Amino acid sequence: MEIRTPYLSVVIPVFNEELNIRELSERLNRVLTDMGCLYEIIFIDDGSSDSTLEILKHCQTEIPDMTIIEFNRNYGQHAAIFAGFEKSSGEIVVTLDADLQNPPEEIPKLVNKAEEGFEVVATVRINRKDSIFRRCASYVINKITAKITGVNLKDYGCMLRAYRRNIVQLMCESKEISTFIPVLATSYAKNTTEIEVKHNPRRGGETKYSLTRLISLQFDLMTSFSIWPLRMLMLLGLVVSLAGIGFGIFLLVIRVIMGSEWAAEGVFTLFAVLFFFVGGQFLAFGLLGEYIGRIYSEVRRRPRFVIENVHTRDEKKE
Ligand code: UDP
Ligand code: MG
Repeated sequence: MEIRTPYLSVVIPVFNEELNIRELSERLNRVLTDMGCLYEIIFIDDGSSDSTLEILKHCQTEIPDMTIIEFNRNYGQHAAIFAGFEKSSGEIVVTLDADLQNPPEEIPKLVNKAEEGFEVVATVRINRKDSIFRRCASYVINKITAKITGVNLKDYGCMLRAYRRNIVQLMCESKEISTFIPVLATSYAKNTTEIEVKHNPRRGGETKYSLTRLISLQFDLMTSFSIWPLRMLMLLGLVVSLAGIGFGIFLLVIRVIMGSEWAAEGVFTLFAVLFFFVGGQFLAFGLLGEYIGRIYSEVRRRPRFVIENVHTRDEKKE
């Protein structure tokens, strides 16, 4: 059998997206066929409990170069993308969401940019169609991420992105479990560019990111790319203890001047100060715990995901 290496790989993580898959694969197939290069589409079924997998298998009968990686349970969007990266072989790899928020019609634009020589093509969502809460959260996350990584991109959250093979290779070699792909890629890239892409409301189903999952993702981002929060913690500790010493001296002086009667009434001030310190300590412990927890899961070196099955159209190819 003739072995053809695709030029373009499209990696799509899916988790309970039965309402969107069919339209997505049709539109995707049309766009990629029009582009005229050799391509492969890799869907990663991240432990869906609805009929996503059946629909994917059905789509596979119509689309020649489509692979489905089936996870045995849900491991999260980023783990799914990693599985896709490991399977992919294209010179350019594009990732996108399955909910049609990222229009597949934008892919040629991304590929053109990558061909111009950019190792990572990031995107900014114009007229972003998400809830105000999500947009505010993203604004804060983007600012913090830009500060932490020193790479000033406007939108770290958009997963419609293109990477050159060398970057994908480096990401596959990065074995940490909790990570955030757009930032990881940017940290390896010689040059990154950011282009504007359209953004649509989610077509069917609901967002898979609840507030707790968003917070957990933010912690992944923060702890896996810098120890800057730890330094801030030390600085905060220093400032608080200096303030404590200053306040102690102040209380002593006041007591000497005003006498012991005043001091009794100062009890509540002391409480306030105490609470401040105790609160600060808990915050610090929490943050330390967050790092330690992550170190613990990294040293265990468990596999990032377990693949139940890989479905290719021509099963003999495997
Ligand atoms: N996703 C996944 N595993 C998960 C959560 C999400 O594979 O545990 C996929 C999901 O199917 C979609 C993409 O990741 O293709 C982005 O998810 P979603 O649209 O819910 O995120 P949002 O757009 O709200 O940030
Ligand atoms: Mg979405």
